[in-house]
Amino acid sequence: MAELNNPARTAFCASLKDELLLAQVRVRRQPVGFELRHVLDQDTAADTLKLIPVADLRALANHTVTGEFRPIKAAPNLRAGWLCRVASEAELELALNQLYPGALADWFAVQQPTPPVTHYRDFTARQTGMYRITTMLTDIQAAQVIRACCDARFCLKRRLWTVPGLPSDTAHAKSLIPCLEPCAVMLEFARKAMRIEQEEHRPNLTLAPSEVASILSTLETALAHPHTGQREADLSAASNPRRLQLLHEKLQGLVTVVTPPAGE
Ligand code: SF4
Repeated sequence: MAELNNPARTAFCASLKDELLLAQVRVRRQPVGFELRHVLDQDTAADTLKLIPVADLRALANHTVTGEFRPIKAAPNLRAGWLCRVASEAELELALNQLYPGALADWFAVQQPTPPVTHYRDFTARQTGMYRITTMLTDIQAAQVIRACCDARFCLKRRLWTVPGLPSDTAHAKSLIPCLEPCAVMLEFARKAMRIEQEEHRPNLTLAPSEVASILSTLETALAHPHTGQREADLSAASNPRRLQLLHEKLQGLVTVVTPPAGE
């Protein structure tokens, strides 16, 4: 049951005029209550969409259209084709918390004079055990890892925390849902990235700029067409999209230093 007189809900609903886009969900004010649907369905006739109750939204948000679990609910792969009607602000809060857990509370926290943001260095400094090594990434390495993990192709939360040298996200680039501290996937990805940095027996490769460009092109194709069945949180898989994105980030850094001669 939604909490009575929740200030986050009250402030959020006051900001909602006729309609509002929260990540991939379009919320429209109705004569009574609100209507929620996927942004891809914003112009679709309502009677062609599947009417679902609030209680079914969590199950909808748990898996992609091909059945993979969605560890990050703000990932831009929410299923489309549904419509949910709610009768009150309290029900709207319930519905949004099924789709984007904690989004309203975090949105409200950011409206306060001192938002509770925990940056990468403070967050990793309090890690123990296997996650302690996440402190060992340099600022440049951490920035590459963060850019790769939190890229809009993987997560629509607006990252407000950062590491020295890396700007935070804008709402325009992501969504209204703020990210106040690194999530579990980010922490595991930072651990994996540091483990990769520590690997020995590195091949002594020297690549020409054109060869780097070919690898970048291949990575972009792979990122645009990820494997069906690829588990998002399986960061041990060499083909994990976040790992491909990190490799892309690293190589992209090289080609900004050395670029092939024009016209070749
Ligand atoms: S840490 Fe990055 S991937 Fe995780 S929820 Fe925040 S923005 Fe998204």
